[in-house]
Amino acid sequence: MANRTKYIFVLGGVMSGIGKGVAAASIGKLLQARGFKVNLVKIDPYLNVDAGTMNPTEHGEVFVLNSGLECDQDMGNYERFLGRDLLSDDYMTSGMVYREVIEKERRLAYRGSCVEAIPHIVDGILQRIEKSSQIHQSDVSVLEIGGTIGDYQNIMFIEAARILKLRHPEDVLFVVVTYLPLPPKIGEMKTKPTQNAIRLLNSYGIQPDIVLGRSEQPMDEKRRNKIAEFCNIKKDSVLSAPDVESIYDVPINFNRMKLDRLICRQLGLPNRRSNFDQWEQWVKLTHRAQSPVKVALVGKYFNSGDFILKDVYLSVIEAIKFSAYHLNRRPVIDWIASQDFESQRQSLKRLDEYDAVIIPGGFGARGAAGKIEVIKYVRQHDIPFLGICYGMQLAVVEFARNVLKLSAADSTEINPKSPHPVIDVMPAQKDKLRQGDYGGSMRLGAYPAQIKKNTIAHRAYRREIITERHRHRFEVNPDYIKQLEAGGLVFSGYSPDGRLMEICELPRSEHPFFVGAQFHPEFQARPLQPHPLFTELIKAAIEKRR
Ligand code: GLN
Repeated sequence: MANRTKYIFVLGGVMSGIGKGVAAASIGKLLQARGFKVNLVKIDPYLNVDAGTMNPTEHGEVFVLNSGLECDQDMGNYERFLGRDLLSDDYMTSGMVYREVIEKERRLAYRGSCVEAIPHIVDGILQRIEKSSQIHQSDVSVLEIGGTIGDYQNIMFIEAARILKLRHPEDVLFVVVTYLPLPPKIGEMKTKPTQNAIRLLNSYGIQPDIVLGRSEQPMDEKRRNKIAEFCNIKKDSVLSAPDVESIYDVPINFNRMKLDRLICRQLGLPNRRSNFDQWEQWVKLTHRAQSPVKVALVGKYFNSGDFILKDVYLSVIEAIKFSAYHLNRRPVIDWIASQDFESQRQSLKRLDEYDAVIIPGGFGARGAAGKIEVIKYVRQHDIPFLGICYGMQLAVVEFARNVLKLSAADSTEINPKSPHPVIDVMPAQKDKLRQGDYGGSMRLGAYPAQIKKNTIAHRAYRREIITERHRHRFEVNPDYIKQLEAGGLVFSGYSPDGRLMEICELPRSEHPFFVGAQFHPEFQARPLQPHPLFTELIKAAIEKRR
């Protein structure tokens, strides 16, 4: 292990979805603010090798790193909290670890020994943990183990954590983020599920050092005492973490609770002063902004039974917020399923209520017709519009159909037999699709693009070369570029070899803000550095509102 790196494992008790990722990110943020070199690692216990093949309605957003790795949305939060790009080594899944071990076995790397989950998988996990902290030369590695205590799936990772603690007793800390239900009929906060979760963790050989109790209301003294006593933890290490207004308040809250001081004390880290001003100022901004800016997000991955899933477009939503707050506006974001516009065309008028419309990334034919209707409407009614990836491709389809009058123009993703395939599969992707090679095989990650001067894109970026993250198989068909340009569409960003169109827009004389990006700008938007394209969009939205 790297010399004296400290390791903090963040585990979940009772149930998932209570903010374990945000807690891990906040701990990282607080230690970073104290001048420590910190890295954050997300561990996902599923067998998928990466998150790229999972349906977003099941797993939420697929976040893409510069490297092109498709991973869990928590990685996005980590980047946004740390204000830094993460690496492939900062993410692991069971699938990744098992695949590597099995491939080694096939190469006879274990020299004929029987290969087993213990010790080989656990060793594989430990090597990855070590590698990530070494690459970053971290003082502190914060590792979030996905799932909940008691799951079968994450047990190898918990075992690896136990072994790390055994080897480095002074350098490993366990934080359990748990849920304290407050059943309305009972009217009392219950600690029993937490006690049981921690007892189970004890049976794995792990004693938590800190318990963070998530709940709607603050935990009182009586409950803190109970958890401390029954779970064998000092009372000052049982902390109450009630709901706060936004996730960005969490580090501030933790700091007020002196969680960072407690962690430093427990790990024997020097009690450095923390420099937290910039973050606090930005959070103040989010509380202060009053006058609203209304944005509609038109997508399809919203419905899960009777519930609306906002997680699918998490980074887009955060990117809107950063730019809006930066411009002193309170973002009001509505989610609209594009299929609504297919059944009842009348409702397109509904879009007039909004100051801007965004069509985020997507796949497949379902919902595409509704999106094309929306694009036509916002183009003809001067509503500021940003199309991201699929949103950009469909903007090109709409333009070809309604401006160039190629009424059967389409993306071959929707209609492979279209006589005017203005969006077509990239040549490099054809074989992959034919061979059924779907995992991690799109055009992924950071690529540079050249920006044309005197365009909205240039006004936003103020640069001629940009780098943005991608995740797509289709592109603007090079055979149609001349025709689209002649019709008035401007390609203001393209790959340095001039082949692949990265940004399209309408001139300002035609429309206040109509921009499509083949990449995903949302992945690089950060609270302290809002993304220029989103900021330009929100500026146009504010202008429209006036
Ligand atoms: N389905 C489109 C493609 O594969 C767009 C992908 C996306 O929006 N991320 O090119």
